[in-house]
Amino acid sequence: MAYCQQCGTQVTDPNNRCPTCGWVPPAPVQLRRTEGGAIASLVLGIIGLTMCPFIPSIIAIILGSQAKQRLVADPTLDGEAFARVGVILGWIGVALFGGGLLLVMTTSAFSYLGPWR
Ligand SMILES: [Zn+2]
Repeated sequence: MAYCQQCGTQVTDPNNRCPTCGWVPPAPVQLRRTEGGAIASLVLGIIGLTMCPFIPSIIAIILGSQAKQRLVADPTLDGEAFARVGVILGWIGVALFGGGLLLVMTTSAFSYLGPWR
């Protein structure tokens, strides 16, 4: 049985409202769940930049974009910042990989065709 924390009256009201002073216990804090795909996107974005290039970056962009859509659809989900950073890191990873690949290709082409040889 619940008792009013304000005045000690026994509360029988289904809404836990105190019949004497009208005190209502605070609603339990709703825990916001963190969107799993947003975390995965962030982790893969970091992996794509540090350990293994390109493929984790691509997956980070995909997972982050999907997580953003789920976050928009469900306001109780948290992790929008994770998803945003994951997608950004993913694009950086892709850009670095693409840029590096281009650099290797052009330098090898120039060293092959270069007039200084
Ligand atoms: Zn009371």
